[in-house]
Amino acid sequence: HLEMLEQLKGKENITKDGQTVRVYANIGHVPDLDYVLENDAGGIGLFRSEFLYLDSADYPTEEEQFEAYKTVLEAMKGKLVIIRTLDIGADKQVDYFELPKEENPAMGFRAIRICLQRPDVFKTQLRALFRASTYGKLGIMFPMIISVEEVQKIKKIVEEVKAELKAENVTFADDVELGIMIETPAAAVISDDLAKEVDFFSIGTNDLTQYTLAVDRQNQELENFYDPHHKAILRLIKRVVENGHKHGTWVGICGELGADPTLTETFLSMGVDELSVSPSKVLEVRAKVREADVGKVKDDILKSIEG
Ligand code: PEP
Ligand code: MG
Repeated sequence: HLEMLEQLKGKENITKDGQTVRVYANIGHVPDLDYVLENDAGGIGLFRSEFLYLDSADYPTEEEQFEAYKTVLEAMKGKLVIIRTLDIGADKQVDYFELPKEENPAMGFRAIRICLQRPDVFKTQLRALFRASTYGKLGIMFPMIISVEEVQKIKKIVEEVKAELKAENVTFADDVELGIMIETPAAAVISDDLAKEVDFFSIGTNDLTQYTLAVDRQNQELENFYDPHHKAILRLIKRVVENGHKHGTWVGICGELGADPTLTETFLSMGVDELSVSPSKVLEVRAKVREADVGKVKDDILKSIEG
């Protein structure tokens, strides 16, 4: 089996009936790059930038961030690298943020909510990202979105950052893709409106499951209730893909569910454009894709989801 997987390296991810899908990797630290390259991922679909903040005693500087982003972009040699902006919250211990203690941190002050209230912190990260953008092919992705207004605020800040860099004669790429995570039910439901604002969506099934089913993803006691195969989740994913495509926005999945081999045919049937999975799962997913004959199963699969 391992030998079979080895042979997939360098090959195209194409189904028996000719449908292609991009298979990318998720990483959380710069050294994870070794596994990404070893497993021949087509790109990085989610680089969680939290490590920069969690591993530091104070706010990471623009320079520190720039070096990390540059390293990853250079190593990927022009393949798309999607870096997600800060996604911490009251549940993650980052003392210097001095976040208030919360009863219900998963539904609290976290991720983009912090960034929009702390434009200084947000802009430092965006400056580092745009400065690094000339070293490869960059996508920037924003977590925990619930509204169009948030995305418009983000885009305004992005424009400010670009104008500042221009004024300083600092070069940056003009093809940086901007995307958002679809990981709240609100974002999934209004994904038709959101699609008009961004280049891509990446569905975060870990949080989407937590918030849709009202099940704390950290609570082991609730394991039996945490069911990402729930029809509500699959219907939301299907809807998000349809809404994205209506407006020319490509759609990926970067939550754990993207690597579930029992759903590969389902995601292909929905027309998902990209699956981003942990590096160790990349070749397994690619094998599943090459075994699939989507045309044969698509109608039945989609009908069973809609009920
Ligand atoms: C998700 O919520 O599915 C996701 C990919 O983000 P994280 O697991 O980092 O919350
Ligand atoms: Mg998430």
